[in-house]
Amino acid sequence: MMSTDDDQTGKNTKRLDHIAIAVHSIAESLPFYESLGLKRLEIEIVEEQGVKVAKLDIGNTHIELLEPLSPDTPVGKFLAQKGPGLHHICIGVADIEADLAKLKSSGTKLINETAKIGAGGAKIAFVHPKATGGVLLELSQPT
Ligand code: ZN
Repeated sequence: MMSTDDDQTGKNTKRLDHIAIAVHSIAESLPFYESLGLKRLEIEIVEEQGVKVAKLDIGNTHIELLEPLSPDTPVGKFLAQKGPGLHHICIGVADIEADLAKLKSSGTKLINETAKIGAGGAKIAFVHPKATGGVLLELSQPT
């Protein structure tokens, strides 16, 4: 039997899109990751999320370094409360609206009930850590 998580071929379409790490300064944090041999793909300002994002290529997924644009942004508040560290993991999905509808109908605690625009123009939404075992979880549908 095929579930709604499967595409036409029966393959699971979900994948690890990226792991995001909150840092005070991309300029200070990037050299370490580049010294590991990870290739920097781009540095992008995402105004809607209040962050500067440095994307690093690692196999079939990415590591993102997140630097807040100001202290009153979500990542700025995270740094003030917890300091630098793992901020969220992101699962790539094929149909974010369908996944959000399913999560809402099951009563899952969401941070974003509707999709927003994230890095690279992807449609994104965050699921509350209370629902995921304590990790902030992003869903992302690439454009
Ligand atoms: Zn992300």
